[in-house]
Amino acid sequence: MAALPPGSTIGILGGGQLGRMLATAAAQLGYRCHIYAPPGDNVACDVAAAYTISEYDDLVALEAFAKACDVVTFEFENVPVSPLESITDLVPVYPPLKALEVAQDRAAEKQFVRALGGKTAEFAVASDEGAVATAIADVGIPCILKTIRMGYDGKGQLRIMADGDIKGAWERTGGQPLIAEAMVSFEAEFSVILVRGQDGEIRFWDSSLNRHVNGILAKSTLPSGALVEGQEQAARDMAAAVASALNYVGVFTAEFFASATGPLFNEIAPRVHNSGHWTIEGAATSQFENHIRAICGLPLGATETIAARVEMENLLGADGDNFEQILADPAAHLHLYGKAEARPGRKIGHVTRLYR
Ligand code: AMP
Repeated sequence: MAALPPGSTIGILGGGQLGRMLATAAAQLGYRCHIYAPPGDNVACDVAAAYTISEYDDLVALEAFAKACDVVTFEFENVPVSPLESITDLVPVYPPLKALEVAQDRAAEKQFVRALGGKTAEFAVASDEGAVATAIADVGIPCILKTIRMGYDGKGQLRIMADGDIKGAWERTGGQPLIAEAMVSFEAEFSVILVRGQDGEIRFWDSSLNRHVNGILAKSTLPSGALVEGQEQAARDMAAAVASALNYVGVFTAEFFASATGPLFNEIAPRVHNSGHWTIEGAATSQFENHIRAICGLPLGATETIAARVEMENLLGADGDNFEQILADPAAHLHLYGKAEARPGRKIGHVTRLYR
């Protein structure tokens, strides 16, 4: 595809903070964004040229949206795939729907990575309640039950630490197909974030060390330290193999555990990622801008880190009330997402601190 000229309209499925930051980056390059999202606190609409609020399976609204856009992307990996199939004849959609399909199914995702030579934690599928005990026995206790679909940020997960935890586990994870995954003893968590262009060129950002609290990313730090740096190349090779096999276009994230035996793949996010928010100020080109460049067929931007040390901290719930205190620190770059409700545990912003 020839490069999409500035002034064109980029459609974004999903109306959250990732869409907001994508739309901001797109505006800088002269594009208009049209957000499509179901009713909710759609903070991306505040910074977009147009928006459609409707359910993802509203084929009439989806078709009108597709016709109003020159390219369509998504910021949310749980957009249902089948309605989207009906618009791929009307408008180019990047990343490809195959990436969404794989990322939406934890079992398919792990199998896909394994088929390409990647290592994952041991896992077993339980499609119904009767299969749960066997799946747990297959991987051993301790393990984690994870719903196959619709899980993120630790949602739809249950830790099984002893036999007594098995009773009622099916109901507690929502009564839906799941995997039992062996508990990994890892030293650190990190992600590989890459951008892949329409010509197959791949560029990587440096991996940050990611610390999670209650299953939610709390902090990303660079440099990541010797442990992650020692495993980064193997993880990059694995992430690049997956992205290329998917014929991916755009920003792609793969999350890893740094284990004693090397990087263990955890999951894919077929989109820009929370652990890459630091790239807005900390890298030559941000993950958001490079995603826009890739889907528009533009040359990719340089990805190197431009500070000696970078820290990105997520702001949850009432954390944003301290905005004046945060801004008083000359190292701090504050991003607030404009959410109407700051419920406890909800991501409402982030702050990136650069040290030169
Ligand atoms: P996920 O939704 O799979 O990214 O899981 C959320 C968080 O739970 C991860 O970032 C880890 O901190 C933790 N976690 C997930 N899977 C495992 C595992 N197999 N062993 C240990 N901790 C895990």
